[in-house]
Amino acid sequence: MNATSASSLPPSYVGRFAPSPTGPLHFGSLVSALASYAHARAAGGQWLVRMEDLDPPREQPGAKDAILESLDNHGLHWDGPVVYQSQRLEAYAHTLEQLQQAGLVYPCTCTRDDLRAMGGVYDGRCRQREVDLSQPHALRLKLYDVPPGVPTLPDVCQFDDLIQGPQAQNLRLEVGDQIIKRKDGLFSYQLAVVVDDIAQHISHVVRGSDLLEVSARQIALFQLLGEKPPLYGHVPLALNTQGQKLSKQSHAPALNDGQAGANLWHALVFLNQSPPEELAQAPADEVLAWAVSHWRTPAIRGLSKPESQATTEQR
Ligand code: GLU
Ligand code: ZN
Repeated sequence: MNATSASSLPPSYVGRFAPSPTGPLHFGSLVSALASYAHARAAGGQWLVRMEDLDPPREQPGAKDAILESLDNHGLHWDGPVVYQSQRLEAYAHTLEQLQQAGLVYPCTCTRDDLRAMGGVYDGRCRQREVDLSQPHALRLKLYDVPPGVPTLPDVCQFDDLIQGPQAQNLRLEVGDQIIKRKDGLFSYQLAVVVDDIAQHISHVVRGSDLLEVSARQIALFQLLGEKPPLYGHVPLALNTQGQKLSKQSHAPALNDGQAGANLWHALVFLNQSPPEELAQAPADEVLAWAVSHWRTPAIRGLSKPESQATTEQR
């Protein structure tokens, strides 16, 4: 493991990989891990691993250790201890309280069917409603028309994605107030990810483009909390031959750690980094060293359209 900075000031570049333990590391998650690792190391930055084990019903037994072992076998060594979201519930509760005190949180009893009838974007109807708190209810966060005293957010959240370029999303019309605590009592990913990115001083978030869609709402939460959001970069998703995202749901195969170097080489090809042919048989550490010293973010641009994405067959 690399030594962390001895300075007490937050370091200037801190990246992270934040897997959910729903299954083993597969080619798609390796692409995200490698991109965030290489982007961080090429900038001389730290690279952290955070286990997003916040949703026990979705977890696969053994997946946490399997993911960490697989990262390690691929030479993707992280700085500092792994943070487990399951150990951070107090921090989430604390931030929730802070948001409640600012008048930004309200209970919502709407169902999935209600949300579908609203066209998928929550219309804020429980903001004004008397909610019977003895009934199961979620807690939602106001993202627009916020109470006085809270930083006002522009209706349209704009940011420049490091890979996908300029982005704009209307929080009121395209996003809607977000659930931050679910009906089943679990804290939502949207809350936890921001609380942790703040606590870990994350400066750069490089991750799969399935999360491009949720970046604006995360940026908004940073702003409501008076914090500066990190920079975001979203890498294209690896798809299977049916055009589905590689995931446990689409039965993505676990990586063979015995071919770590070759897996990394294929991930570099996928990321349009043009690694030399002869590196295809090299050990993982050598492929990684090449990746860091030749890392080119602009090369990834233009890969975001599904028709130009590689499939698992090409690896
Ligand atoms: N845990 C999330 C996932 O595996 C990623 C969260 C993030 O990178 O912000 O999809
Ligand atoms: Zn509601």
